[in-house]
Amino acid sequence: MRIEELTWPEFEELKRRVDTVVLPVGSIEAHGRHLPLGTDVFAPLEIARRVEERLRGMGMEVLIAPPVWYGHTFVLDVYPGTINVGSDTLKAYVREILREFAAEGFKRIVLLNGHGGNHSPLLLAAEEVAGEFPGVEIWLINWWVDFREDILSICSSQGHAGQDETSVMLAIRPELVRMEEAKGERRTSRVRVIRKDIGRELFPDGVNDDPSLATAEKGEAILSVVSEKIARLIAGEK
Ligand SMILES: [Zn+2]
Repeated sequence: MRIEELTWPEFEELKRRVDTVVLPVGSIEAHGRHLPLGTDVFAPLEIARRVEERLRGMGMEVLIAPPVWYGHTFVLDVYPGTINVGSDTLKAYVREILREFAAEGFKRIVLLNGHGGNHSPLLLAAEEVAGEFPGVEIWLINWWVDFREDILSICSSQGHAGQDETSVMLAIRPELVRMEEAKGERRTSRVRVIRKDIGRELFPDGVNDDPSLATAEKGEAILSVVSEKIARLIAGEK
C-alpha cells in the first residue's frame, strides 16, 4: 500500500494493524551517460514494491511511504543534473519525517536507501529519532552494500552506474537506459580525498565501474534476491 494513495481514514485504519513503514530515499544525480538522474530512487522504490508484494504473500502488511527524491551527493555535483542537498539539511528533513512516523505509532521504520552519499545523514537522523522514541526501531538498508555478496554472485562487478545498477534499471525501466553509452571503469583511491572536483577523476562521466555487461536478467535476479531477503528480515526470518 502506497501511503500517498490513501485517504486519512484509510491510513488510520491501516496503521492499527500495520507496524512497519518503508521509506525509500534516493538522489537526483548523474549516473553516466546511460542511466537516468533518478536511478537511486527508481531502484529502492521497486525493491520496496517487491518487498511489500512478498510480505503480502507471507500474510504480513507494510506501508510504503512516498520516497525522498533528493539526497546528499557532493562528489557527483560536478555533473549537470545533480541536485545536491547539504547533509545537515537532509539529516534534519529525514529526521522530521521519521519523527512523524514514530509519532503516528509505527514501531519499525525501514529507510531503504538507494544512494551512498545519504548514509551518514540517514544514520544520524535515525539515531536521534530512535533516542527520542523508545520502542521504535529504525532500519537503515543500503541494498547494494548489505547484499553485496548476493549481487556479486550475479554480476562480475558493481559500482556507481555500474553493472549492478545498470542491470537493475534494465529490469525496471529499460526504455530509460542508453546501453550504447554504457561504458566506464572501476576507479579507487587509496585514501579518501575530498576535493570539489574529485568526481571528475573518480567518476568520469558519472560512472565508477564497467556497466557494459549489464543485462535485464541480472537486474531481475538482483531485485529478486534483495527483495526476498529484506522481506524475510522484516518477517523476522533469517
Ligand atoms: Zn546510483
